[in-house]
Amino acid sequence: MTRPYNFSAGPAMLPEPVLRRARDEMLDWHDSGMCVAEMSHRGKEFMSIAEQAEADLRDLLAIPEQYRVLFLQGGASSQFAMVPMNLLRGRASADYLNTGSWSKKAIAEAKRFCTPAIAASTEADKFSRAPEQNELKLSAEAAYLHYTPNETIEGVEFPEIPDTGDVPLVADMSSTLLSRPLDVSRFGLIYAGAQKNIGPAGLTLVIVREDLIGEPLTGTPAMFDYGIHAKNGSMYNTPPTYAWYLAGLVFSWLKELGGLEAMAEINRRKAAKLYAAIDASAFYANPVEPRSRSWMNVPFTLADPNLDSEFLAGAKAAGLLTLKGHRSVGGMRASIYNAMPEAGIDALVNFMREFERTRG
Ligand SMILES: *Cc1c(COP(=O)(O)O)cnc(C)c1O
Repeated sequence: MTRPYNFSAGPAMLPEPVLRRARDEMLDWHDSGMCVAEMSHRGKEFMSIAEQAEADLRDLLAIPEQYRVLFLQGGASSQFAMVPMNLLRGRASADYLNTGSWSKKAIAEAKRFCTPAIAASTEADKFSRAPEQNELKLSAEAAYLHYTPNETIEGVEFPEIPDTGDVPLVADMSSTLLSRPLDVSRFGLIYAGAQKNIGPAGLTLVIVREDLIGEPLTGTPAMFDYGIHAKNGSMYNTPPTYAWYLAGLVFSWLKELGGLEAMAEINRRKAAKLYAAIDASAFYANPVEPRSRSWMNVPFTLADPNLDSEFLAGAKAAGLLTLKGHRSVGGMRASIYNAMPEAGIDALVNFMREFERTRG
């Protein structure tokens, strides 16, 4: 069986060695006689899996001690609400950067709890770039500043971490966490749905500075309270055990690869190859300003949109799946997360060249 290259934005490809190991351990994890999905989350077997996963993640990202790592459910979309519920801490407003579809959703959800102030917006530029530091209108009164370092739909990534002084920085890193090294100490809170670059859907990672939790809005349900999850080691209720285990296998795969420096080098090369192919052609185009181009999600259009469906059908026949752009943007999008091998980029670039030569 040859596996196709799947360019889906999420759920996305998982590293093949991770899938093989999960297969080998499926019926009998480490002589336990059980599949991980059958284990008690409080039993010693699963506790060891959970602890190892957290230790490996901490190691990969060099997460400082005063940060808690939470393994939650509910997706990044739940975090749009949990962030204001937990981090407003008596303040009436928070700053938000409006840079694309996902930040818009975060802003809409924050309105249920506070008055989000738009510290910068690139909507007038059709979300084709990340704002620069000198464009940010920061408020000293803001409870936090929320932004989306990588806008998955528009393919826009911040080249630098915004500087917010003493105001805690909150980042939705769903489609970029673990793609390269990160200075976690610059952030108050980082969250990410797992299904892009971490593991399977159903798991949501939260990395939060300890001093920011424990003062949720009055009436916050237990399941939405970071403090309760932190106090219970993410086991206040049944956590997504199998997804946690698979994420752990991904972390150990990354460590074996040489960590995030090594991963970043591969990702840099993959993205550079694809953008170079687009830029070298008059048939393909990417609308994003070069300094803000995403390493993970590469949208592109064909000079003649009438050829879109033929392009997609040909790609599929060549084993290149899910290249259709998001319905809100159209065109194509290649999501090239950590698990996409460099050979997948080569295959895509070859297909694009051949399509242009014969149909362009
Ligand atoms: C996919 C995505 C989301 C939504 O994630 P869910 O887990 O489906 O809630 C939010 N933000 C970004 C940046 C994403 O890429």
